[in-house]
Amino acid sequence: MKIVCIGRNYADHAKELNNPLPSAPVFFLKPDTAILKDSAPFYHPDFSNDIHHEMEIVLRISKAGKHIEEQFANRYFDQIGAGIDFTARDLQAECKEKGLPWEIAKAFDHSAVLGHFYPTSDFEDFKNIDFRLDVNGETRQIGSTSDMIFSFEAIIAYVSKFITLKTGDLIFTGTPAGVQAVKPGDKLTGYICNKQCFDFEVR
Ligand code: MG
Repeated sequence: MKIVCIGRNYADHAKELNNPLPSAPVFFLKPDTAILKDSAPFYHPDFSNDIHHEMEIVLRISKAGKHIEEQFANRYFDQIGAGIDFTARDLQAECKEKGLPWEIAKAFDHSAVLGHFYPTSDFEDFKNIDFRLDVNGETRQIGSTSDMIFSFEAIIAYVSKFITLKTGDLIFTGTPAGVQAVKPGDKLTGYICNKQCFDFEVR
């Protein structure tokens, strides 16, 4: 399986990193070794001094597809959850400056935290899903999919033009503003529609 991550899908986050708004979805991949689940602790790697949390809604693909039309894209995912796209911001800044790929900043082990998933039937409107991340009990990121630049369906249509999506693939759909560095001892708790979906510690 593969993990597809969308960048710059919330205007307020693009702005906080001084990035222009994209005219098409920006995406990159993480390998399956990036997954960290079941609220296992995240061990802060020593290759970065600036690992940021990016709280995101995550889709689970339920059917293989290529060149999926946007109007049918909702048939290709069956579960929605939330997770964290951990990013080594210092390494990413170097990569951006040199025009290099982002893998060392984005695809490292345990950089894709997954929380609990819920069936899509639990959600009335995919364009109105609230989510938030608390760190040590204080809210750091609040988002709503109503603020996404590209909808779930638009993302699936775009990505599947280039890469076949397969059952079990995951799509991280972008983060709202409020990203910050984590440090050992931090406790990260994620919520989707006010339901707690993960709770883990940085060590
Ligand atoms: Mg992200």
